[in-house]
Amino acid sequence: MSEANIPIPATARVKLDSKALVANWRALNRLSGAATAGAAVKANGYGLGARDVVRHLLAAGCKDFFVANWQEAREIEDLTASKASVSVLNGVRELDMPFALQSPAKPVLNSLEQVARWRPAGRPCDIMINSGMNRLGINVDDFATDLISGLKIDMAMSHLASADEDGPQNSDQLTRYRAALAVVPRSRTSLANSAGIALGSDYHFDVTRPGVSLYGGVQRPELAGCIQQVATLQAEILQVRMLQPGDRLGYNALYTARRSHAVGILAMGYADGYWRGFSNRGLFLHSGAKLPVLGRVSMDLIAIDLSDASGLTEGDWVDCPYDLRTASDQSGLSQYELITGLGHRLPRDWA
Ligand SMILES: *Cc1c(COP(=O)(O)O)cnc(C)c1O
Repeated sequence: MSEANIPIPATARVKLDSKALVANWRALNRLSGAATAGAAVKANGYGLGARDVVRHLLAAGCKDFFVANWQEAREIEDLTASKASVSVLNGVRELDMPFALQSPAKPVLNSLEQVARWRPAGRPCDIMINSGMNRLGINVDDFATDLISGLKIDMAMSHLASADEDGPQNSDQLTRYRAALAVVPRSRTSLANSAGIALGSDYHFDVTRPGVSLYGGVQRPELAGCIQQVATLQAEILQVRMLQPGDRLGYNALYTARRSHAVGILAMGYADGYWRGFSNRGLFLHSGAKLPVLGRVSMDLIAIDLSDASGLTEGDWVDCPYDLRTASDQSGLSQYELITGLGHRLPRDWA
């Protein structure tokens, strides 16, 4: 057996800025007007680490957290118990009942079947109203009072399908949501995700549910000035080599040198969530020098152009800014996929 205590320094990492995370939550809370901002921390805090995200946001005053399933609720239970409400967006299956009945988290009831399952427990819940996204939720027409009577409903929520766009769907959903609220007894109301917050006070209700913008995502121009970047990627140069004119680089030779220049080989790849869409398009930086990605991104390795930083050598570290809008343009992937897809191999380094 090898010695477990000998450190193995990482060759790449995700650097995370807790001040930026907290500043983003405060900005979204302020933009939510009379409503209070909660936080969507599903998918392990959009890949950044739910426990750390929850710790920082609890300290900032966030009181409502949203996860996808009961495993995720359990993951943060010791942190949130008695301090904040946790809503399980995917609802409660029969198989979840043994855990759910003793959990302080609430299911978001998404169907009349789930209502029937939960009502005998007499415990708090949220409900999801289908206002037109037709994903999860109870249809507005199904809110006959006897079907939901006896439920202890905290939040009656709905979810916007196109808040990042200016089409007619937003106001259609708002109208249907309001119609349902007229017949649904509840303590609190909640409609807006990150982009929905930027749609204005009509969309704010009591609680907003930002996710991606907490983590640096900007889905609407109104949010551009107030959202800071949270995650930066950093990787070590494993090797520096000189290419000569005509030398081919990487799988399938997607780059061929036309002049002689240095390249650095980085210890990061698509297995870390730095997807192949960044091939010949991504950009790294080192003290202001631009270091474009050359050729195809491999599973564990990336080549960068060192023409502008010829002093860099093996063991030096370089930064990938990972501004989500820019990275989305470069890779063709959504900001959501980029942030949630960061690989498990990269340590999350909070500062
Ligand atoms: C994921 C999710 C959110 C957060 O959405 P963002 O676009 O990331 O802000 C809010 N509400 C529900 C129901 C969700 O599934």
